Amino acid sequence: MGYKAVGLFSGGLDSYIAVKLIQEQSIEITALVIDLWSHERTVKNRLSEDVKKLGIEYRYEEITSVFLERLMEPWWGYGTAVNPCIDCKFLMMVKAKEVMEEIGAEFVFTGEVLGQRPMTQNKQVMNMLEKKTGLEGRLLRPLSAKLLKPTEAEKAGIIDRNKLLDIQGRGRNRQFEFAKSNNITGYHPPGGGCILTYREYAAKVLDFINYSDKAQPDPEDMEIYKYGRHFRISRDLKIIVGKDDEDNSILEEFSEGRGVIDLRKVPGPLVLLEGAAQGENLETAASIALRYSKIKKDIGTLVVYISSDGKESSVATRDIKDDELERLRIKFDRNKLEEIRRKTLNKQRMLRKKYL
Ligand code: SF4
Repeated sequence: MGYKAVGLFSGGLDSYIAVKLIQEQSIEITALVIDLWSHERTVKNRLSEDVKKLGIEYRYEEITSVFLERLMEPWWGYGTAVNPCIDCKFLMMVKAKEVMEEIGAEFVFTGEVLGQRPMTQNKQVMNMLEKKTGLEGRLLRPLSAKLLKPTEAEKAGIIDRNKLLDIQGRGRNRQFEFAKSNNITGYHPPGGGCILTYREYAAKVLDFINYSDKAQPDPEDMEIYKYGRHFRISRDLKIIVGKDDEDNSILEEFSEGRGVIDLRKVPGPLVLLEGAAQGENLETAASIALRYSKIKKDIGTLVVYISSDGKESSVATRDIKDDELERLRIKFDRNKLEEIRRKTLNKQRMLRKKYL
């Protein structure tokens, strides 16, 4: 009887090597691609093509709702920005376990490398995740396997431990050498990385945590954070100002349910509204829009059309000075992140105690 395994697959070199090492031991592999919050179609297609070329089964699962819940309330906290990496790994492994049980596979494997990432790929966290996800003895990390406890599959001889590797650390030379000598091509170069680790992006998530009435952002919110200049005008109003024509047309797609300030006679950026645009708030929003318009300076009054109200109004504007603009801009504030960390420590402990 052939043995089966489920491999978490990201399309990066480490996951390619992991697949290669398991494939060589005649194991039937299902590559599991996990989507945290709506992968762009191109990513989805690209990974399914990768998997096809490797000649293994492809399985796509999205965990948006539970992931965004954890983004707001991680059980193990955030990394350098708002990346809840331990929670993220936990959820992926739980999903992999579900798939493993569903298809009757022997084990789950990942491309993790001991010591490669300080938060999640140290022995203590790796062991903890294995235990807490219910994958004890059934989670194989082929790239570092010789440095870790043998799994059930190795003990049972389903997998020959001698053919696995002992890579550790952040260097990539061993992986590149392995790829070269094993003719592994087509993997996606590192770079880009997870957007939650970017400070500019994290700033918008932190703003959501501080000001939104919603329990968690939805995929559309997460998408909008990638575009435009974001300003917090007041507790009740946030605006997003398109950076260029491309940005404007992308942001326009998100206008339903939000509202847009149309500058009517002034050629300017698209301004998306989140919240109540009236009185002083509207004046500030219109003044910022003016500053990023072709005119660039104040003209005293501006006729704007607010799509959410369905009416045109004349708004008094003013020159927005650089320091005011910077004060209103949503930017990364480490102190805010630290404050959230401190405030949520007890909650994290409580959640872990309750659910694990
Ligand atoms: S860096 Fe991003 S994708 Fe990677 S484990 Fe952390 S949260 Fe998940």
